[in-house]
Amino acid sequence: AIPLVAAISTSASARVGLLIRNRTAFEKARNITLMVFDKTGTLTKGSFGVTRFESVDQDLNKNDILKIAGAVESQSEHPIANGIIKKLKEKDLEIGSAKDYENISGEGVKATWEGKNVKIVSPGYLKKEKLELPEGAFESEKETVVFLLMEGKVAGYIALADEIREDSYEAVETLKKEGIKVVMATGDNEDVAKAVSESLDLDGYYSEVLPEEKQELVKKAQKEGEIVAMTGDGVNDAPALAQADIGIAVGSGTDVAAETADIVLVHSNPKDIAALILFGKATYSKMV
Ligand code: ADP
Ligand code: MG
Repeated sequence: AIPLVAAISTSASARVGLLIRNRTAFEKARNITLMVFDKTGTLTKGSFGVTRFESVDQDLNKNDILKIAGAVESQSEHPIANGIIKKLKEKDLEIGSAKDYENISGEGVKATWEGKNVKIVSPGYLKKEKLELPEGAFESEKETVVFLLMEGKVAGYIALADEIREDSYEAVETLKKEGIKVVMATGDNEDVAKAVSESLDLDGYYSEVLPEEKQELVKKAQKEGEIVAMTGDGVNDAPALAQADIGIAVGSGTDVAAETADIVLVHSNPKDIAALILFGKATYSKMV
């Protein structure tokens, strides 16, 4: 056990920002059969860069799309929002201001800009509203694409790319070696989810998952006999984290997720999570 404890002390426990709030839940670590990771910011770096952006509205040029999006996104803390703002700054474009900002849970954001209703949303939202996807929006399965709607009509799109964390490969391998199935649940689109899942050799993935559906998928897995550990970063993830046998809040983002979680990690490194689960196994498997 010494090498494991030594390994732990140099990774998870020695790092600032690990908080085990519920020891009983932590003890369940030895029985975990299914690990559900969120994607953005956990398995991936969560630092989106804008790769392409286009207008499909005759009255707006490319840069207008970015500027209007920026006016709304300056009020969001989502990694997608940060990517859009970064691009505006790079291009020295002015970041305007939008009013009545609101989050559309798991699907995007909305606000009013110069008296117009503006939304920035996922492909899933377009599908749901039966809006046509603009041609050329999807070029690469590695890109996350969001759409700018003006008064309910698609005005343009912005493609962004994130990267898988190096540490994710090892974390997934470690957990799988322990006989734990590893899957991903993301609000992002099917293509991106599939690409990440294949790269990391996951046992499965759920894409275009709405926050309220995350709790349902945990429940369903539990009904099938799985003991579930799950990570989450947002306010939206709180019910799913509470439902999981071990809920792990990652990132320093939201207090609500942290409040309902059993374990809180300030650094959302999946390697720490794998180490933590192994640590729980090693610690509690010796007890009767
Ligand atoms: P995840 O954390 O799994 O990537 P989220 O639930 O945070 O998923 O977001 C799901 C989807 O909703 C994103 O992929 C994006 O399409 C859309 N979305 C969420 N927040 C924003 C935002 N601030 N701007 C634009 N789109 C957003
Ligand atoms: Mg999220």
